[in-house]
Amino acid sequence: MISGCIFIDSSDRKELLEYMRQTAKQKLALQIIDRLKTAYPNSGCSLTYNEAWKLLVSVRLAAQCTDARVNIVVEKLYEKFPTMEAIASASVDEIEEIVRPCGLGKSKAKDIVACMNDLIERFDGKVPDEMELLLSLPGVGRKSANLVLGDIYGKPAIVTDTHCIRLVNRMGLVNGITEPHKVEKELWKIIPAEEGNAFCHRLVDHGREICTARTKPYCDKCVLEDICKKNIAK
Ligand code: SF4
Repeated sequence: MISGCIFIDSSDRKELLEYMRQTAKQKLALQIIDRLKTAYPNSGCSLTYNEAWKLLVSVRLAAQCTDARVNIVVEKLYEKFPTMEAIASASVDEIEEIVRPCGLGKSKAKDIVACMNDLIERFDGKVPDEMELLLSLPGVGRKSANLVLGDIYGKPAIVTDTHCIRLVNRMGLVNGITEPHKVEKELWKIIPAEEGNAFCHRLVDHGREICTARTKPYCDKCVLEDICKKNIAK
């Protein structure tokens, strides 16, 4: 009996290896999603808002600022300018005076006033539900657009903030990628579309409580201790 031999050329081998790597990451991603679901059943956006346009305001203010501070500042903002129209008609200086505690006051105020004007003029006051249209608004990047798509419209979304980027690298879901758009692209390959939004909210909670940035991560208290690449590599 002649035993069979299969010859694989180098480009096929590369493809096969890549396929195996992706499959392993998909499997790991599903395990992580499941465990984080159990650990953080109620994760959600920590910015407070009751209308879609207010989420756009908050997320612009949240750049390099804590969500807790943004929540305090927007209360003051809406006391004086309670509607989209009121903000659109305000001067940049007036808005800047209120949002200054969030940092980058001038540019944030400029974007917020321009964004509210755009929403009124181009979208009849309604926050759009498509990535490209959201990205056409002043001060709205992919992170904000994904947050709106996921939280307001329940569409597939992956929000790559600093917690997400730090954690998915540590866990081994991406390898040494820190550019937000590239991380998003990699995660789309391995995270089921319907899980992306909630997964990212859970990463934020996990990043604040356990897999912290400023201290050493508390791996001994982590529900991913036995499957996380960083912990296994110790
Ligand atoms: S095991 Fe450690 S490094 Fe990995 S996710 Fe948990 S806390 Fe972070």
